[in-house]
Amino acid sequence: MIRYAQPLLDDSDIAAVAAVLRTPDLTQGEAIGRFERSVADYCGVPHAIAVGSATAGLHLACLALGLQPGQRLWTTPITFVATANAARHCGAGVDFIDIDRHTRNLSVDALAARLEVAAREDRLPAIVAPVHFAGAPCAMAAIAALAQRYRFRIVEDAAHALGARSEGAPVGAARHADCCVFSFHAVKIATTGEGGVVTTRDDALAARLRLLRSHGISRDPALLGEAHDGPWSYAQLALGFNSRMTELQAALGASQMRRVDAFVARRRALAARYDALLAGLPLRRPPANGDSAWHLYVIELAADARLAVYERMHAHGIGVNVHYMPLYRHPYHRDAGAAAACPAAETYYAGALSLPLHAALSDAEQDAVVAALRAALA
Ligand SMILES: *Cc1c(COP(=O)(O)O)cnc(C)c1O
Repeated sequence: MIRYAQPLLDDSDIAAVAAVLRTPDLTQGEAIGRFERSVADYCGVPHAIAVGSATAGLHLACLALGLQPGQRLWTTPITFVATANAARHCGAGVDFIDIDRHTRNLSVDALAARLEVAAREDRLPAIVAPVHFAGAPCAMAAIAALAQRYRFRIVEDAAHALGARSEGAPVGAARHADCCVFSFHAVKIATTGEGGVVTTRDDALAARLRLLRSHGISRDPALLGEAHDGPWSYAQLALGFNSRMTELQAALGASQMRRVDAFVARRRALAARYDALLAGLPLRRPPANGDSAWHLYVIELAADARLAVYERMHAHGIGVNVHYMPLYRHPYHRDAGAAAACPAAETYYAGALSLPLHAALSDAEQDAVVAALRAALA
């Protein structure tokens, strides 16, 4: 079976995890700080906060930015459910903004048009969460200009985009956002098994995120107040969670971070190879993008061909996949008006098929994927 995604681990990763297992500190030890610094340095950002998953990171980011019932978060419908659930967990509503037919990211034109209407109706979003779909960065400077004008906060969902570059800086630098959330799930660019990291330039937001990730508890003497009762004291200042990462995961993450550039270089080379191998076939290829981290390589087929191609490729052991059904089609997120308001997302989804793409994929395996696709299309 050739999977659509899988991690690439080597002996140095295994040794890093094994070293932690020989210490008594399986959580909240030195590896967390080391991992956080490795991500912060890689992205050129002052703060990186490791959490149990990107899902937890998105949720804590929305909470830390004050998202609450009665408010709304806007995002793209072509994303994983976690982006929208972050808002729902805060009791807030979600609206879906159509994608750009070319980039497949949230359309800045559609966003601007919806904001203009929402401003008139007093229904502006509190947060907009752009998703760097497939690893291709959104137009963050343009979105940040809209944020200035309409006073919303920005949470970048960069689950696909570790190692991507955005307008001359690494994704994660968060120059045009309040914060940026990476996933280290096993199918993503680099992995900790399960895990996430939030990056930000905002000192107060970073402190709030650290508080919320660990029960809302602080040991800072300056913050203890009435809870200061002795050297053992800590104070719960907010209603937080246990969203921490273990030392085993952090050690794996710090080890993987050394190879992010190599992982992304291999993904870019494979994407370019797909571009060449698929030329002339009856399908739409993803837009060429030298800045993308290439988490996914999504082709678009004729809508009436997709199911048969999917089934034939699986029968040949090729694990093609579909990313994503528009979120408003899920029973939980159902929004009757959204499909009509998102024609580009509907058209994209009708034909979308993700071909296997990961740093461990060999040229020979990729050739087998393309041969199976050719046969399936014939
Ligand atoms: C994977 C993913 C998430 C969630 O990441 P976890 O680390 O698995 O919680 C969020 N958003 C997008 C776009 C994703 O692909």
